[in-house]
Amino acid sequence: MTRPRTHDVVIAGGGLFGLVLAEQLATRTAVRVMVVEHAHHLGGLCWSRRDPRTGVEYSPYGTHVVATSDDRVWEWITNRVRMVPYQHTVHAAVSDRLVPLPLGLEAVEAAYGRPMSPDEARATVEADAAPYRERPADSVRDLALAQVGERLYETFVRGYVTAQWGADPAQLSPEVFAERFGISYAPSRGYRPDARWQGLPCGSYSTLIDPLADHERIEVHLGRDYLDVPRPRYRRLMVVTTPIDIHFGLQLGPLQRRSLHVDWKLVEAEKAQRVPVVTFPDGTSGHYRSHAPALLPWNHGQEPTGEVLVGFEAAGPGPNQIDFVLRTPPNTELAAKYRQLVATGGDVLLVGRGTTFYDDMSATIGHALALADRLVPDLT
Ligand SMILES: Cc1cc2nc3c(=O)[nH]c(=O)nc-3n(C[C@H](O)[C@H](O)[C@H](O)COP(=O)(O)OP(=O)(O)OC[C@H]3O[C@@H](n4cnc5c(N)ncnc54)[C@H](O)[C@@H]3O)c2cc1C
Repeated sequence: MTRPRTHDVVIAGGGLFGLVLAEQLATRTAVRVMVVEHAHHLGGLCWSRRDPRTGVEYSPYGTHVVATSDDRVWEWITNRVRMVPYQHTVHAAVSDRLVPLPLGLEAVEAAYGRPMSPDEARATVEADAAPYRERPADSVRDLALAQVGERLYETFVRGYVTAQWGADPAQLSPEVFAERFGISYAPSRGYRPDARWQGLPCGSYSTLIDPLADHERIEVHLGRDYLDVPRPRYRRLMVVTTPIDIHFGLQLGPLQRRSLHVDWKLVEAEKAQRVPVVTFPDGTSGHYRSHAPALLPWNHGQEPTGEVLVGFEAAGPGPNQIDFVLRTPPNTELAAKYRQLVATGGDVLLVGRGTTFYDDMSATIGHALALADRLVPDLT
């Protein structure tokens, strides 16, 4: 007997992309939507929970902060949840100092070991970078050397990139540097200095995520892999937000991936870090980043007492594992070939983190809203 197609749209993956889209389709059309998520929680990486030992709200996959300059995205978020304004800063541990990132005046001073004016810092870095500007910047290493010179590259970039991506910076596409680093010569203004809005959903990510699927025409299946047989059946459309090569049964070969994981431990308060996120760019620590969520505003920014929850982020498989596709030239080529397998005008769309190398939450929400705009007229 053929199983009935009970839903108009099936969405594979209940991460941020899948849920924003599900909510938009359910509220702007009359379609019935099924969300199939293989984890036992919604939200994908954009997820937080309460640690039962300390009562601290934390993001198991590592600190996630919303930063956007997109009016529509900010309006969409703040219509759903109260946001706590929060100017996040990641610090790098360099020679027993905590240096605010992204690279700014403090980083230049730390790398060269002396105080400088912004003009002096610029002149020093430019002189260091000038010899590297004569060759093409087609890797992280070459772009970083051309933009910030050898001293800053060696102090802040090389070890960190090698540890996080598990690859020599000379093998990684330059976008990895362009998207995550950059330099200014003013004192640091934090994580995303150009974003018009930054913050955290009040209390937890659940306050944003859970209500998205709470609609009479959205059915959620947790703990289910959409590739398992029997596959979910749909009347109109399937939207896949999960890895593109796995969707196609690896028929062109696997995209090269890197795993990282976050191991959450209790640390004596006196030994715990005093800022929310620290990176270790010397590449010699067993972990390259650590997170102390008790210092985030949804835990009232309180000073930790007693034992403190700290997440140690390291390369390789482990608890709270994240797999991501390495941005290398061969991977970019293979991903493009996979995208060509998606039939134009067909009834399966591949979107979200599974098809891109990196989108932040703002871009993810923006793309999901734009896709809904495109689909709604046909589904109405
Ligand atoms: C380490 C790290 C830190 C980050 N920090 C920030 C930050 O501070 N600020 C920011 O804006 N962005 C940050 N991001 C980016 C942010 O996590 C993404 O923008 C967002 O998670 C993308 O959502 P998505 O739905 O596309 O992907 P995902 O969150 O990956 O969701 C995909 C979902 O599909 C599910 N799935 C996979 N395979 C299957 C299957 N076969 N069947 C069913 N379900 C399946 C997964 O379980 C997952 O829930 C960070 C990303 C990483 C990796």
